[in-house]
Amino acid sequence: MTKADDLTQALRDAGVRITRQRAALLTVIAGADDHPDAVELHRRASKDMPSLSLSTVYRTLTALEDQGVIQRHQFDGTPSRFEKAEDDHHDHMIDVDTGEVIEFCSDRIEQLQTELAAEIGYEIVHHRMELYVRKKDG
Ligand SMILES: [Zn+2]
Repeated sequence: MTKADDLTQALRDAGVRITRQRAALLTVIAGADDHPDAVELHRRASKDMPSLSLSTVYRTLTALEDQGVIQRHQFDGTPSRFEKAEDDHHDHMIDVDTGEVIEFCSDRIEQLQTELAAEIGYEIVHHRMELYVRKKDG
């Protein structure tokens, strides 16, 4: 798990000053276990830190992304979503009606991808899978 301390250090490494506003934002990011967008992160952090501006949120997120401690997801039809960069690989389903993001990881799919690439002489360096889903009736 990425802790607020790790995020703080990453920002320092990027040469960004850790203001009280940024510290409040980092606490929110560290505590998020979903995939909030910048506006949602701003909303959460503003509860404790009303002087946090949205532009600070955007700049801080970009710096954290550059440092590799958070991941940006650009799902179709939604603003960028963010999550902590963690070691365990997973893919995402996006509910097209609610925007909810569901994490999943399938050993069968992972294996199949490896086999498909190997069949034509490749190994997979990285992959990203997004399934756009809608709840079935009933
Ligand atoms: Zn995720």
